[in-house]
Amino acid sequence: MQSPRILMRVQTLHDRLLEAARAAGFQGAFYGETGDWSLPVFTRAGDPGALHIYLSAGVHGDEPAGPLALLHLIRKRLLPEGPHYSLVPLVNPRALEAGTRETPEGVDVNRDYGPQPASAEARLHKAWLGGQRFDLALCLHEDTDAAGFYLYELCAPGHPSLAAVALAASRAHMPTDTRREIDGMPACGGQVYPPAEAHARERTDLPEALCLFFEHTDCCLTLETPTRAPAAQRMETQVAVILSLIGAFSSPTVYPRRQPR
Ligand SMILES: [Zn+2]
Repeated sequence: MQSPRILMRVQTLHDRLLEAARAAGFQGAFYGETGDWSLPVFTRAGDPGALHIYLSAGVHGDEPAGPLALLHLIRKRLLPEGPHYSLVPLVNPRALEAGTRETPEGVDVNRDYGPQPASAEARLHKAWLGGQRFDLALCLHEDTDAAGFYLYELCAPGHPSLAAVALAASRAHMPTDTRREIDGMPACGGQVYPPAEAHARERTDLPEALCLFFEHTDCCLTLETPTRAPAAQRMETQVAVILSLIGAFSSPTVYPRRQPR
């Protein structure tokens, strides 16, 4: 397994993200600081009335493919021009620098989006999210135990599923994780089906995806690549899946457009 240090120093990644975002017409801002790091968010306005797409990465520091996929998408200008975008590419840079899942204080940021976050990372991120709404939210993650690509999907009633689109796009780049149980939850064909109690609003150890689904979006997918696979393959898979989802979500034939709120 390659560590993020081998792939790219976090400072280099941070600088390249800022530079690429500026060049690609994104507005860069910082929503806070943790340790020596400023926490970047990039936004780009799309067409009037267009869909608003949110992507986040780097919540876990031992999962570098997500931030690298966002850098690639921005640098190569692969994100379609139409939609509005909000990109949060480095949620937890201190952990990314250390190559650890948790913050230096031992907090799993992806279990910290409840009412009272223990980490500055989740607290500042939640403050930035505020009352914002997104049409589609994608959370980029990786898994040390995974044998291939898999995902979680949260869709409000009446929303068509996008899981098949994502899984089909991933298969061009790597196998699907066909385990029947992932993280202790039932899974089938590369999709995890958490039990109802995992989606309880009262959970204090709320993952980002559930926070997004409860407060900020009606459609949220968490994409997982296996950290045992080569880094380039993981990044390419994330990129392909993201682009397939944005394409499908933007297409009125594949995913009928919601009525404006
Ligand atoms: Zn993760």
